[in-house]
Amino acid sequence: MMTQKRPADPLGLQRVVKPQGVLPQQAETLDPSLPIAEDELLIEVESLNIDSASFHQISEASGGDPARIEKHILELVARRGKHHNPVTGSGGMLIGRVVEVGPAFPVEQKPVKAGDRIATLVSLTLTPLQLRRIKKVHAKIDRVDVEGHAVLFASGIFARLPEDLPETVALAVLDVAGAPAQTRKLVQPHQTVVVVGGGGKSGLLCLYEAKKKPGVKTIAVDYSREAIERLGRLSFVDEIIQADARNGVQVMEKIWNATKGQMADVVINVANIPETEMSCILSARNRGLVYFFSMATSFTRAALGAEGVGADVDLRIGNGYTEGHADLALDLLRESPELRQIFTESYS
Ligand code: NAP
Repeated sequence: MMTQKRPADPLGLQRVVKPQGVLPQQAETLDPSLPIAEDELLIEVESLNIDSASFHQISEASGGDPARIEKHILELVARRGKHHNPVTGSGGMLIGRVVEVGPAFPVEQKPVKAGDRIATLVSLTLTPLQLRRIKKVHAKIDRVDVEGHAVLFASGIFARLPEDLPETVALAVLDVAGAPAQTRKLVQPHQTVVVVGGGGKSGLLCLYEAKKKPGVKTIAVDYSREAIERLGRLSFVDEIIQADARNGVQVMEKIWNATKGQMADVVINVANIPETEMSCILSARNRGLVYFFSMATSFTRAALGAEGVGADVDLRIGNGYTEGHADLALDLLRESPELRQIFTESYS
């Protein structure tokens, strides 16, 4: 009996189970089954790097218990055919080994061969995934070691894992590579840049990248004692503010004091919790810019909130992808011993 061939489709539309006709990211359910189509890539998955906002939510819903986190993730992936958290809407990324390259996969533009170890740079929210088991939950670094397979579409992007950086460090950086790349585009010389959630992965990369422009003043806002201590050791952070980013008025007052009433030209939101929109909007100067990289951002809260306080600020959505973002982000660790050390300490 002949097995029916899976049709090729660079966007993976043929993998959508329901609702029919939508893109894989919008889909409720994907079909992660084998064999792959001729333009797909098959990956034996080793680890999932769960998006910080998503891991935080799953961990809270599971009472911080690793066994319940494990069950939650297994059930979620079995139900949806992908790791797509319905509460936060976010996913994360994975690392694994390529086991099969479909004959029509565009290897000229995206060189890859069986045996390569790669990190996917498209979100898990659109990546067909089937898990056989979870081997270990690393709650401190939002990482889960697994056994299973994933499928990358012809349109998907990935990075080969670098040999000069520890794998977990490279993964932590690649997960948020869009943030420093966008920072490079958005920040101009001599500006004041506030990074809300500055002590985390993307926060550190954004602060470092912003400080590279001449005359830039960097201000980090974070909450926990550990984050504040971590930030205090870094030469590229000019000022550190300990505050709860959910308290818009308190953050605004502290930024007012730190900037002598000038407020920030650019505010970057990389907090991993909801309801931090207003502290960012209120920290920006008139006609300033707020860049929402955080997945916990609510469009409604940001748009209506800015209107409600009469803030004429430019609100930008944080695109996770910018051309060359993976190399740009990894290069920051190569050029800064300080960044490399802090990432190695925190994410190895
Ligand atoms: P992270 O390493 O967990 O950093 C988040 C930071 O926010 C931490 O330093 C955390 O401090 C801080 N924070 C938490 N609650 C706070 C509060 N109430 N007030 C002030 N600071 C607070 O996260 P990440 O990996 O950098 O990711 C940051 C955000 O970017 C997440 O929302 C993630 O979902 C999102 N993201 C977006 C994209 C995209 O494409 N746009 C891609 C990847 C990730 P503690 O550690 O002390 O709690």
